[in-house]
Amino acid sequence: MDKSEIINKLLNGEIKLYQIEQFTDTIDEAITVRREFIEKYSDTSLENISHYTLDMDNAFKKNIENPIGAVQIPIGVAGPLDINGEEDKKEYYVPLATSEGALLASVNRGCSAIKASGGVNARVIDDKMTRAPVIKANSSIEALKVKQWFEDNFSNLKSIAESTTSHGKLIKIDPIFVIGDYIYPRFVYSTGDSMGMNMVTIATEKILEKMSEETDAVHIALSGNVCVDKKPAAINIVEGRGKTLIADILIPKEVVEKKLKTTAKAICEVNTAKNLIGSATAGSLAYNAHFANMVAAIFLATGQDLAHVSEGSLGITTAEDRDGDLYFSVNMPDVPIATVGGGTSLETASEGLNILGVKGNGGARRFGEIVISTVLAGELSLVGALAAGHLARAHQQLGR
Ligand code: NAP
Repeated sequence: MDKSEIINKLLNGEIKLYQIEQFTDTIDEAITVRREFIEKYSDTSLENISHYTLDMDNAFKKNIENPIGAVQIPIGVAGPLDINGEEDKKEYYVPLATSEGALLASVNRGCSAIKASGGVNARVIDDKMTRAPVIKANSSIEALKVKQWFEDNFSNLKSIAESTTSHGKLIKIDPIFVIGDYIYPRFVYSTGDSMGMNMVTIATEKILEKMSEETDAVHIALSGNVCVDKKPAAINIVEGRGKTLIADILIPKEVVEKKLKTTAKAICEVNTAKNLIGSATAGSLAYNAHFANMVAAIFLATGQDLAHVSEGSLGITTAEDRDGDLYFSVNMPDVPIATVGGGTSLETASEGLNILGVKGNGGARRFGEIVISTVLAGELSLVGALAAGHLARAHQQLGR
């Protein structure tokens, strides 16, 4: 079938969008046909979506179905970002992809204050990925027996799970909630440098096969929403998920005044009034100004799963006035990231990770330190700007 024949059949509904590859010799040809069909169908030109350098053969195997091209988002760099990490002290230029003007300028200003203060301290506190299926028994009493079965068989279940992966390890099954006749065991794995969702899903599936053989319980869904994947949730804040990260810095009074044009006292007031009291008043789960801005931009630049921005947006910012110097910290309980697998193999994502020197094996913990340090830079800059505005208004009013 030639191109126009396939497009006509698509327009007539005789073949489906996902069947185009069956009628073309290459993926690129299928992409062109599908795009031209959409152009006709929607009477619009897709000139820009049609330009890309990604290897779509590879992307089609693991990253995208029904492809028509690629989206372009501008990418810039902020830095140098001076990080006192677990292994060394190092400066980075951080790739950030965004369409939000002023974001990079703001992070860059934070980087400058950080550098003038001797660097930001960053650590990975905890590192794990979770999967929590929902299982059904006949009654709560039966459900409690299934909970006991998971507890009694942990070492066997660990072997079963780990037979499916060479990098994943089942650390624990905790907590195991029983609600009525439903059981929600939260399987907690370490997943090396991968984000791990596919890995832990496959491993957990294998455990559930064993459960079906040895108990009368049935599994209702592989995820019972207690994981909690791609949604902000209290359990992830308390227990942690992905990388649990911390970063802090002591910024001398002169740097606060020169780089941020404000005072530690004013920053503390903004942080308390906005990030703490304001967030509490709203019942927010996130006690920060804009972690999601930096998380989204660095995720986009490095091929992370963007839906995890919902988890990466969580965390607390603290600020203290120490005799005019500013102690500032950011804490992120739930940052799923990878330097292997998922979208990290896309060419632009690989380049983004290579700018940071973290692509591949052994890079994920260092990448976590970079993510939270970038978040601190952006958070410091915004809270500083709000404080400077507040100071300026106070001066104006006093002047009057
Ligand atoms: P993946 O691309 O499926 O798997 C990465 C694989 O890389 C691992 O399973 C591991 O193989 C291998 N690997 C090689 N070197 C490694 C290293 N140093 N550390 C760790 N693993 C290494 O990715 P994934 O991280 O498991 O899952 C990410 C993907 O899951 C994303 O594309 C995301 O969109 C998707 N996702 C899936 C679900 C779901 O429910 N299934 C939910 C959300 C997101 P071995 O296991 O053989 O060791």
